[in-house]
Amino acid sequence: MKNLVLGIDIGGTNTVYGLVDVIGELYYEHSIKTKYFETMSDLIQSIKNDPEILNQYQHLIGIGIGAPNGNHFTGTIEHAPNLPWHDTIHLQAITESVFNLPCKITNDANAAALGEMLFGNAQDLKDFVTITLGTGLGSGVIVHGELVYGHDGFAGEYGHIRVVADGRICGCGRKGCLETYVSATGVTRSIKELSSPNQSTSALVQLSNPNSKDVFDYADKGDPFAIEIVDYTAKMLGNALADFTCFSSPKAFVLFGGVANAGKDFQTKVKQQMEQNMLTIFKDKVEIRISSLQDKNAAVLGAAAMIFHTKKSV
Ligand SMILES: [Zn+2]
Repeated sequence: MKNLVLGIDIGGTNTVYGLVDVIGELYYEHSIKTKYFETMSDLIQSIKNDPEILNQYQHLIGIGIGAPNGNHFTGTIEHAPNLPWHDTIHLQAITESVFNLPCKITNDANAAALGEMLFGNAQDLKDFVTITLGTGLGSGVIVHGELVYGHDGFAGEYGHIRVVADGRICGCGRKGCLETYVSATGVTRSIKELSSPNQSTSALVQLSNPNSKDVFDYADKGDPFAIEIVDYTAKMLGNALADFTCFSSPKAFVLFGGVANAGKDFQTKVKQQMEQNMLTIFKDKVEIRISSLQDKNAAVLGAAAMIFHTKKSV
């Protein structure tokens, strides 16, 4: 009999869910609008009522959920700025009572790290860090094959480690956080906020609303200002990875997301910057890999991985 896990990725705009088996095969996937539902309970109930889910209910062994500010220990979502419900949401309890099945919760970056370890490009690793480069910068730290949660469940917020004193204002209310420089949003900010003599002659700047993808595309075409932004981003990230290595001595950083996918050139530049700034004992020991889950639904796979991983470690 096949065992399936329902993986759910709750986002500010869309909630995506799917059925995943033990080797990471995705059987069914569907997306719904998060804000369409009045309460979280309504949203979870609607997923259960999906005929495809009901059909496979007998094969379900659990539900894994990745959600912004999802707390693995308390099973709650706390103060998620992008969700329509701002109080503490008892997501695990709600889901377990709706489905009558075990449920685990974590944040999306942690789920991505587990997905990478079970189904992706880190299957051979027990010590690594995933860095997700999207709207923000998320990170999931794996040590000895286990996610590091910290005492309260929020460990590994590398995106909010401050890399520039008094630097760019961050959504968290502080200044100079890494994600304000190297996330997709950070790269886009660099178009306006990086001052350079190349700016005035750059075709990139002439675009009506250039974004991070444009930066990498124009850099490939040889636009000097775009190249400068790519170099600056690689420098910021490479520097930070050299420092992060000191925390947990990972065998690799696995990069995920649009910026990570921006080409081999970017990966090489990040690696160079990391090595240049690396503490001697770690030099030439840490790899940079690109996630192999880029084209699949990594968030749903990662959420489901939580349940399979728990089963394995019991
Ligand atoms: Zn911040």
